[in-house]
Amino acid sequence: MEMYRPTKAIINLESIRNNLTAFQKRAGDAEVIAVVKADGYGHGAEAIARTAIDCGVRMFAVATPDEALILRRVGIEQDILVMGAVPAAFVPVAQREDIIVTALSLEWIEMAGEAAIQGRPLRVHLKVDTGMGRLGIQPEEAEMAFGKLTADVFSFDGIFTHFAAADDEDTTLFEQQVERMNGVLKQLPQGVMVHVSNSAAALMHPSVACDAVRIGISLYGIAPSPYVGEHSPIMLEPALSLETEIVHIKKVQPGATISYGATYRSEGEEWIATLPIGYADGMLRGLQGQEVLVRGERMPIVGRICMDQCMIRLKEKLPVGEPVQLIGRQGDEEVLIDEWAEKLGTIPYEIPCILTKRVPRVYV
Ligand code: PLP
Repeated sequence: MEMYRPTKAIINLESIRNNLTAFQKRAGDAEVIAVVKADGYGHGAEAIARTAIDCGVRMFAVATPDEALILRRVGIEQDILVMGAVPAAFVPVAQREDIIVTALSLEWIEMAGEAAIQGRPLRVHLKVDTGMGRLGIQPEEAEMAFGKLTADVFSFDGIFTHFAAADDEDTTLFEQQVERMNGVLKQLPQGVMVHVSNSAAALMHPSVACDAVRIGISLYGIAPSPYVGEHSPIMLEPALSLETEIVHIKKVQPGATISYGATYRSEGEEWIATLPIGYADGMLRGLQGQEVLVRGERMPIVGRICMDQCMIRLKEKLPVGEPVQLIGRQGDEEVLIDEWAEKLGTIPYEIPCILTKRVPRVYV
């Protein structure tokens, strides 16, 4: 792809490799399923998947049928589990493409049994709702679900649940979910793969690992919550950094207004530089006031963030073309995704996902 604008997200695949290898070690005999939904949490699913395959990963998890097909179309041959709901129309496609789908209710199992075509059985993992309240059979429906999944049209390959609060210091709900799942597993037929842990559970509760762990956010070097970040036994390496360059610089007079709504007025003579990144790139307006790194020092974004551009205040005149680090390290300073999340009043998961397609992902 041609790139005439200096704004780009750099994805360090070595960091992905290091995070993944650390999880593989921590998981012991359990395999790591790499969660690459939402285009690899904004990092690029294909590149992440290829890196993970190099590290021995044999299964990927995505949220939607379309995400699974994208991976198949680029030649990913490993197992792919769609963790979200798939409609009847996708059932024959899943059979043809050898994609594993989630059995999320007794009604879904009925529907899929009817939609399946002759030939290769439909591979399913059964989802159990142990306290997330989103998708899955209730624990008391497990025996009936197991019975239905013995039908020839199905290959009952796996069973899983999802923790709602494994990233919390308070482990009450986590323990309740583990207990409910253990109850379900007592009746499980032999040979069905069990996976329950997300990043937080794999980091904080390694004893529940089962046959596999599903690692999403921390594969990308991001802690699921500040609590896990502080207690993580693995040194997570953030893989994504965001860079641009100064495209314009000027000295303004005292009282000069900057950007829409004139929410910023210079106090004295100031050096104001313009950066080619704005809310259409995912640099949301709520980031007004956030600091960026220039020559290893923190400089504030001043005035409203525009669709394609924003302005920063500098201490001195710097040249057009001067590198600016929006997320990542420069010199001794670092701006973490967590800092953006805090500024925006959200969780770090959202940040790489909201960097739009206009920002090229460059792999190093
Ligand atoms: N499993 C399921 C069902 C999920 O929805 C997710 C992500 O939300 C994951 C695993 C991965 O979780 P995390 O990104 O916290 O590791």
